Amino acid sequence: ARVVDARGVDDEQRVEAALRPKRLADFPGQPRVRDQLSLVLEAARRRDAVPDHILLSGPPGLGKTTLAMIVAAELERPIRVTSGPAIQHAGDLAAILSSLAEGEVLFLDEIHRMARPAEEMLYLAMEDFRVDVIVGKGPGATAIPLELPPFTVVGATTRAGLLPAPLRDRFGFTGHLDFYSSDDLAAILVRSARLLGVEALDDGIAEIAGRSRGTPRIANRLLRRVRDWSQVHGRGVVDLEAAHEALALFDVDVRGLDRLDRGVLELLCTRFGGGPVGLSTLAVAVGEEPDTVETVAEPYLVREGFMVRTPRGRAATALAWQHLGLTAPMDAPG
Ligand code: ATP
Repeated sequence: ARVVDARGVDDEQRVEAALRPKRLADFPGQPRVRDQLSLVLEAARRRDAVPDHILLSGPPGLGKTTLAMIVAAELERPIRVTSGPAIQHAGDLAAILSSLAEGEVLFLDEIHRMARPAEEMLYLAMEDFRVDVIVGKGPGATAIPLELPPFTVVGATTRAGLLPAPLRDRFGFTGHLDFYSSDDLAAILVRSARLLGVEALDDGIAEIAGRSRGTPRIANRLLRRVRDWSQVHGRGVVDLEAAHEALALFDVDVRGLDRLDRGVLELLCTRFGGGPVGLSTLAVAVGEEPDTVETVAEPYLVREGFMVRTPRGRAATALAWQHLGLTAPMDAPG
């Protein structure tokens, strides 16, 4: 079963990669970030210089990795991809930095999870294009400065607030990605259906778009499940019936909330009387890491008005009670 699972994941990841837009002009949604990026890149091109370092922040699946790849493609430069958790020692980062080509794009996903000593090395590299390579150990250790060719860091984080100020300040431009509108998601889905070679009707597309939590990764994944349903039980076409049936089968409710979202709301209402309750208490009750609840479930629940953050913790709104089919207490926030 393991092998099958591993292959399944691989396949899904390959499909995800295949669905990524390659250029800024093909990237639907996020008009503000797109305009800002386009200006930064065009100006750098005209100056024939590397652009400022770029930070992209926002919830998972909104296109940070995709945009990093687009930055490299627009600059016609190679890209090196790594992530904060993969860099646990300054030496890991030194090895990467010292092998960068001139103008290369270094994509650092989950940059807020990088180890502190590596972070400090990164400040210096971003600011002065230099690393101090430590040779030897103990009192005899010496730092040998190594000049680096200019390069561009594209950092991605789900939590811009967690980045230490000195690191944040070294990014010349920060793009904040927000959830996509249903129209933008529909445009993404039409394109994805075409790339997957599956016929899709407007009503089916609209249904998936409206239930994808404003997130392209989720939209693309649901599209594939609706296609599966349709190929097995339907006419092989992504239509309204296939969307309804497949989304019900995969526990996506009418507002697009998934199991985790609903689990959070249900516990908040039934076990904690609607809150407010602290994030960690809530996370333990759901059986998830606080970080997962905070970065994956919460942003959408808050944005859609199901949950509010108060100084004393998270609280369910009247809308949340209503959505769960429960009677809201009189003092539930609106
Ligand atoms: P994470 O931080 O979780 O890795 P991310 O923000 O880096 O997420 P991506 O990996 O860039 O997200 O995007 C996830 C998927 O969504 C990709 O398969 C990509 O094809 C698709 N996608 C993201 N944004 C867009 C977009 N604007 N248009 C079309 N597809 C998109």
